[in-house]
Amino acid sequence: MEYDVVIGLEVHAELKTQSKCFCSCANSFGQEPNTTCCPVCVGLPGALPVLNKKAVEQTIRAGVALGFEINKTAIFERKNYFYPDLAKAYQISQLVKPICINGHLRVGEKDIPINRIHLEEDAGKLVHGTDGKTLIDYNRAGVPLIELVTDALKEPHIETANEAVEFLEKLRQIYIYAGISDCMQERGQMRADVNISLKPKGSKQFGTKVEMKNIMGFRSVKRAIEYEIARQKEILEDGGVIEQETRKWDNEKGINFTLRTKENAQDYRYFPDPDLLAVQISEEEVEQIKKSIPILPSQYKHTYMQEYALSEYEADVLLQFKHVNDFFNACVAIYPNPKSLCNWILTDILTKIKTESGAGPILISAQDFVWLVQNVDNKKINKINAKEDVLEEIWGTSKSAEEVAKKKNIMIDINDQALDGIIQEVLKVHIAVVEQFKTENDPKILNFLVGQVMKTTRGKANASVVMEKIKKFTQK
Ligand code: ADP
Ligand code: MG
Ligand code: ZN
Repeated sequence: MEYDVVIGLEVHAELKTQSKCFCSCANSFGQEPNTTCCPVCVGLPGALPVLNKKAVEQTIRAGVALGFEINKTAIFERKNYFYPDLAKAYQISQLVKPICINGHLRVGEKDIPINRIHLEEDAGKLVHGTDGKTLIDYNRAGVPLIELVTDALKEPHIETANEAVEFLEKLRQIYIYAGISDCMQERGQMRADVNISLKPKGSKQFGTKVEMKNIMGFRSVKRAIEYEIARQKEILEDGGVIEQETRKWDNEKGINFTLRTKENAQDYRYFPDPDLLAVQISEEEVEQIKKSIPILPSQYKHTYMQEYALSEYEADVLLQFKHVNDFFNACVAIYPNPKSLCNWILTDILTKIKTESGAGPILISAQDFVWLVQNVDNKKINKINAKEDVLEEIWGTSKSAEEVAKKKNIMIDINDQALDGIIQEVLKVHIAVVEQFKTENDPKILNFLVGQVMKTTRGKANASVVMEKIKKFTQK
């Protein structure tokens, strides 16, 4: 039997703010355990939360960037459950009146509907030691967290692992570009829960969903979804039924297993937090935030393809890392030759900075880089010299491209007449080869002759100019 796959995503992202959501403790990753905590975020009796205005702003910013409606009144509720990383035994979250409702995100040709984005607090972190003991670090407790929930029961929804990953990647880019979250997955700043169900092809009735929580890394998300689809298919084909449950993805083993059978919202006994007032959000505030949203990836992409005539692939690669895109734009501002700059960045810069998990910093200034690209474009330096003698030499230093190029004497300064003379000399020396070229017109022979001229000029001529001249001279 053929099945329709229905996928819903719940995505958590830690907001970029100075302080936590309901107290003034620092929101700062990587501090000594239990040093950025106070009575509020560790839930001591009598301590009262005070809402961080910045966290609300950031949530609205996410909503605006994704075309959500912003609720005029939003309410904080207590989601009650016990876990050692949750000292209060409840999490401050939002259920009935979240800050953002009804948004969407474009994935391929689909506008994926999104139910909501709500603001809540993160929990602390359990650190499992090798000695069988578990330690608790409350630094993360109270860090502002937004949760976005797609609407899998509306059309169109996510249907494949690849679409899910594309959704997450696009979302991540928007959060990063708009300064909402750093989304560093290795720091747990972006975490996805995946809900999956299958139904007979074309059926109106949805199947029972299985949830996989907190999958780290998009590659794991892809594998986890593919695994779960196959697992459900097998059960259904054997005439079995799918249990509604939460399963845990084990990335090393490449399997998932039952964590718990699913609880319902009622089980959490949500109720409005009596310590927090409803949040009133004015139209003016939303407008203000709208104006503060910087250029987002989809807008850049449009410009790159329509105005700069870059390919979709080139645009996507430039946009993949914000600092690379910022660098590209800084360069275009000085030297409006996007095609040429893009070629260099995609090849020479990216190969230098790519790491396993992302991309390191660009260790050359836009000015020096543009100076090199421009001089190569203007045939004042050969590309190979520019790369090997200059780019490599100044990368990560404070040396100037111009000074290094001049010191190494690689500027092409042979005038046209002198170059003609050198070429004529070389052709004379290799008269037999020249005769062979005239009859066979073999590009390999032509390259040999160009090489000889370049050697004689010590690389100080432009190879493509030399090639054209040799062609001309041997035609006569
Ligand atoms: P829960 O309370 O179990 O977290 P929600 O109703 O909040 O469930 O839904 C969580 C996610 O699962 C949402 O993205 C939702 O669209 C999606 N979802 C709901 N029903 C299904 C289903 N039958 N198949 C796939 N996804 C579903
Ligand atoms: Mg859920
Ligand atoms: Zn605190």
